[in-house]
Amino acid sequence: SKWVYTFGDNAAEGRASDRNLLGGKGANLAEMCSLGLPVPPGFTITTEMCNRYYADGRRFPEEFDAQLDAALAYIGKVTGRRFGDPENLLLVSVRSGSRASMPGMMDTVLNLGLNDKTVVALASDSGDARFAYDSYRRFIQMYSSVVLGLDHEIFEEILEDAKARLGHDLDTDLSAEDWRDIIGLYKEKVQEELESPFPQDPREQLWGAIGAVFSSWMNQRAIIYRRLHDIPESWGTAVNVQAMVFGNMGETSATGVAFTRNPSTGENALYGEFLVNAQGEDVVAGIRTPQNITEAARIAAGSDKSSLEKLMPDAFRSFVDISQRLENHYRDMQDLEFTIERGKLWMLQTRSGKRTAKAALKIAVDMAQEGLITKQEAVCRIDPLSLDQLLHPTIDPTAQRNVIGTGLPASPGAATGEIVFSSEEAEEMSSAGRKVILVRVETSPEDIQGMHVAQGILTTRGGMTSHAAVVARGMGKPCVSGAGLLRVDCRNGTLMALGQTFRKGDIITIDGGSGQVLKGAVPMLQPELSGDFAAIMEWADEARRMKVRTNAETLADARMARSFGAEGIGLCRTEHMFFDGQRIVSMREMILADTEKDRRAALAKLLPMQRSDFLELFEIMAGLPVTIRLLDPPLHEFLPKTEEELEEVAEDMGVSSEKLRQRTEALHEFNPMLGHRGCRLAVTYPEIAEMQARAVFEAAVEAGRKAGKLIVPEIMVPLVGLRREFDFVKTRIDAVAQSVMEETGMTIEYLVGTMIELPRAAIRADHIAESAEFFSFGTNDLTQTTFGISRDDAASFIENYQKKGIIEQDPFVSLDIEGVGELVRLGAQKGKTTRPDIKLGICGEHGGDPASICFCEEVGLDYVSCSPFRVPIARLAAAQSAI
Ligand code: PEP
Ligand code: MG
Repeated sequence: SKWVYTFGDNAAEGRASDRNLLGGKGANLAEMCSLGLPVPPGFTITTEMCNRYYADGRRFPEEFDAQLDAALAYIGKVTGRRFGDPENLLLVSVRSGSRASMPGMMDTVLNLGLNDKTVVALASDSGDARFAYDSYRRFIQMYSSVVLGLDHEIFEEILEDAKARLGHDLDTDLSAEDWRDIIGLYKEKVQEELESPFPQDPREQLWGAIGAVFSSWMNQRAIIYRRLHDIPESWGTAVNVQAMVFGNMGETSATGVAFTRNPSTGENALYGEFLVNAQGEDVVAGIRTPQNITEAARIAAGSDKSSLEKLMPDAFRSFVDISQRLENHYRDMQDLEFTIERGKLWMLQTRSGKRTAKAALKIAVDMAQEGLITKQEAVCRIDPLSLDQLLHPTIDPTAQRNVIGTGLPASPGAATGEIVFSSEEAEEMSSAGRKVILVRVETSPEDIQGMHVAQGILTTRGGMTSHAAVVARGMGKPCVSGAGLLRVDCRNGTLMALGQTFRKGDIITIDGGSGQVLKGAVPMLQPELSGDFAAIMEWADEARRMKVRTNAETLADARMARSFGAEGIGLCRTEHMFFDGQRIVSMREMILADTEKDRRAALAKLLPMQRSDFLELFEIMAGLPVTIRLLDPPLHEFLPKTEEELEEVAEDMGVSSEKLRQRTEALHEFNPMLGHRGCRLAVTYPEIAEMQARAVFEAAVEAGRKAGKLIVPEIMVPLVGLRREFDFVKTRIDAVAQSVMEETGMTIEYLVGTMIELPRAAIRADHIAESAEFFSFGTNDLTQTTFGISRDDAASFIENYQKKGIIEQDPFVSLDIEGVGELVRLGAQKGKTTRPDIKLGICGEHGGDPASICFCEEVGLDYVSCSPFRVPIARLAAAQSAI
């Protein structure tokens, strides 16, 4: 088989689309040659050879030898030189290049082919002995560390000693003679360390380097990098061998890197840096300060060092021309490497350039407007999750970070404020106009008020779907959850981090995008939602099929979600509406009531509050669909947790603390998430569901009257497993609708549907759909109940599962398509079998996750519903999955 592909001289055996076989670098070198661009001739050894090398116990197949000779002869023919021939010197570079860019891989070996004889030839060829010996010593250094596995420090030491002895500070002060002496010392050192001489045979050097590149595929750095970036081992790496060109042949030579557009702002202007008389490694090493390529960039940077444009105008013009051609050819912003050898430009690499979220938007929109790509392509060019960076204030990337701890990046954005340890403190201080960060071990529904007024939330326990994380995302507040190494002592009001103690009022910053907790205030950048962002969103909306709704219950969230383009509410969690002021008191009265009569009396107090909540939501949503879910959590969530709170609440309510304690104990459950919650509450206490239904219908009638058009509310029953459970609750809801119609003399149209969040519901969806008019997949609970993993406790061990390669993604963040997804697919299919026009949506956290959204498109859901700040992400992801 064919292991080697040549390129050079305006032709190539491979092309850009051969990336899997030739690696990114090799495929693009071939493509550039075919485009007629100046690329030093060379060849690529395929990724298949890499796999074969490992399969054969790190050995090369016999026929490879002949292919390698032929390829070397090809380079010789194009350059008019011969590898290993001191009379007609050909030196090569050897570089790795896998399918995905992998900075953890082997470094480059340059100047390969130099030895004691050829270095003399290089000196006379170039007319520069100093350059020749400097190149040789660099080669010995690089080869010894990359291929022979010696520590490069040992060479640095020799060099430093020599400089000290000779009284020189800089490498550039050393003469050809000096370098020759140092080379002698280097070779002695190699002999001493390896008990064999530095290889003089160029072919042996080449075989060694090729083997080292392949071996580097399995080095620790590469293995870890692959694991972190989901790169399969089976991809292998390619090896690129290329005729050397020298950027260090004096003042008319240079080497540099550039982007065809600015990678941080997206501005359509060539942007890059170079060094005169240098080899590639010098630019990266950062010892010398690089110069700007264009005059405009030089002026903008206020640099007094000459630009390439001024210094080498001919090479600059060719480079500008080539970079334009490459961008037009690849139809994307390119990241380029080049070398200028005695005034002649050579291209060494091109690839799509990495860029910030902001630059990605600008580049995509500009390119669509320039006609280089279509609007749909522009939509597909943006990583939906990267929008998160744009919707919130973020930490200025140039800011100093004093990190005191790290947790999960539970809700994006950054926030600074004074530490508070309770909801009450948060309210107190924020009403005095101070900005606070609420710091808790974990949060509960009682903390909602405090979370609302805080700038951000930090918890030391809990995962990505913990209460703090879900509620914070819903509110669009930055949140870092599960920062396990931080110690919160709420009683004494301290936060311990890295041996430092922080108290109430001390300033911290949290970065919900990275999970970092920082000491003090940090400079921020503000979001920008018009312009390019708006353009991409508009094009996404033209392309998508699924609707995007939001999970919201507060007016602020609902309004914000509308401003982000939400097309209705997919989940209003009514339990979140029972914690404010008077409501929690009435709620507790209801829970403490001994008789249905007393319960109804307490519920009657809650009715007007619920009604006005719903009315306002209907008004904000102005005729868009609104799904209201009946009370879901176990009732004890509304009761005080600690003895102190209990005493306080008992006094406020005018009941004995004994009674309150008894009731709290009676409501205690071993496993509340699998306990008396969801529709089970409505089965036990139908009057709660009836009150909520009444509030919904009365609000719908009133909103309809005000708006002069019918409002069609959707009432959703949670945690249904049995059709009869659903029917039991629906009958009550229908009866309430009937009474409200009679009382008001208005007709009410409404839908009653269910959450599908238990495996049994998915399996029996055809039966449930006989009475349920819509389904909303509650994939938080469905994941919890399918895996049998508590969503509140998962964080502590899921990460271990990821590290050990048992699962790739946290299933509470990105839908487990093979398992939980299968249940969603089944539920959707079965639902449609019974009721072909059944409305299908998703309202678990997955409704805002791009990969999960793609799956929702595939199974034909009608909409996804997610927290307000995820709405733009979902709009974009829904568009991409429809394109
Ligand atoms: C769900 O379970 O997916 C859901 C949306 O409900 P909650 O998160 O309120 O349990
Ligand atoms: Mg649920």
